[in-house]
Amino acid sequence: MKNEMNDNNEKIKVGDSRIIEFNEKLREIRNQYKQGGRSDYDISRYELIDYEFKDGGEKRVYKNLNFSIFVDDYCNADCKFCVAQLRYHHRNELYHKCHIGDPDKYLSRLEDVLKIVRPLNPSVSLTGGEPTLSPLLTEVLKLVDKYGFRKRTITTNGSGLLKVQDNDIILNNLIKYNWNHLNISRVSPDDSINRAIMNYSTDSEYCDMNMLKEILDICAESTLKHRLSCLLLKECVHDVEGIKNYTDILSQSGANNFIFRELMDYDKLAVNTEKTEYCNQNKVKLYDIWHQFQDYPEFIPYLNILGYYYYVEIYKYHNMTIASETADLNLQSKEKAAHPDVVYEMVFHTSGHLTGSWVEKEEILDRYTE
Ligand code: SF4
Repeated sequence: MKNEMNDNNEKIKVGDSRIIEFNEKLREIRNQYKQGGRSDYDISRYELIDYEFKDGGEKRVYKNLNFSIFVDDYCNADCKFCVAQLRYHHRNELYHKCHIGDPDKYLSRLEDVLKIVRPLNPSVSLTGGEPTLSPLLTEVLKLVDKYGFRKRTITTNGSGLLKVQDNDIILNNLIKYNWNHLNISRVSPDDSINRAIMNYSTDSEYCDMNMLKEILDICAESTLKHRLSCLLLKECVHDVEGIKNYTDILSQSGANNFIFRELMDYDKLAVNTEKTEYCNQNKVKLYDIWHQFQDYPEFIPYLNILGYYYYVEIYKYHNMTIASETADLNLQSKEKAAHPDVVYEMVFHTSGHLTGSWVEKEEILDRYTE
């Protein structure tokens, strides 16, 4: 896909002929759907591939889907809002995951699953926990590269990127094994605030602003594209001025690609934990911020995308790219319930199961048995 802005920065060319314009109506349509209106997303408009899974049976797989790999679920942070945990709480589950204990068995099972999903040509994301803390990470990078997957992304808090694994730093291994996108999570440009909200264990490594600059400098010399990912929180970045401040400060370290995310909506009956309590108190609505952008001409609307449970608006700001995303786990559950034969995404869990869900015991497509 080739994206180009035209002279007045409003139209994007996709492929040879299709023009996409920023369509503000999409925002209102999604907002009405969230308030209980009619569904605004129609999966039948997209290409679906018939595929038979060992345990999931016959399914129709969304052609552009993403395959997420849990390298591990251990994290040296304990964010007050941890998204990985929230996905379980939404399903009224506590965040407990099973593991294949033997590293060789984990890698062998992952290779088997890569062979299963490769014909579907998904993009691949590495997630956790904190993937850079896993001693298996570089082997996972090599395996994914061996099977030649398209767009490859890793999401990390950055803390392990300069650690040596397999005779080189992990960041260089990402480049060497042809990873395309590096998402670094950070809620504030201020190290003390970021460290406190992401709740790092005191003795653990931490990606401070100096380390971040070093990482971005290495990326700039390579094909690995970076993106800084910031969760909007009332006690931190929560309005347009905060977004400007965040991007302006981080751009001095070489960052030019950002995403600001709204805390995900989830089931009100979710298991009640300190995380859900924190999320309830700290929610910032992007819908309000998008309206505020109208008073800031330096934010130029570029593209918006309606997904099955997420909605994204992308802006240009001083030659930087600013994405903003809302996601609603209730819409995800509704959409999946309406189309149980459709696979929207695939996840490889530390238990070895391949599923269509972020919760490992749901939508099992290929069960792991030793
Ligand atoms: S860095 Fe990610 S996985 Fe780790 S605690 Fe924070 S949100 Fe959860």
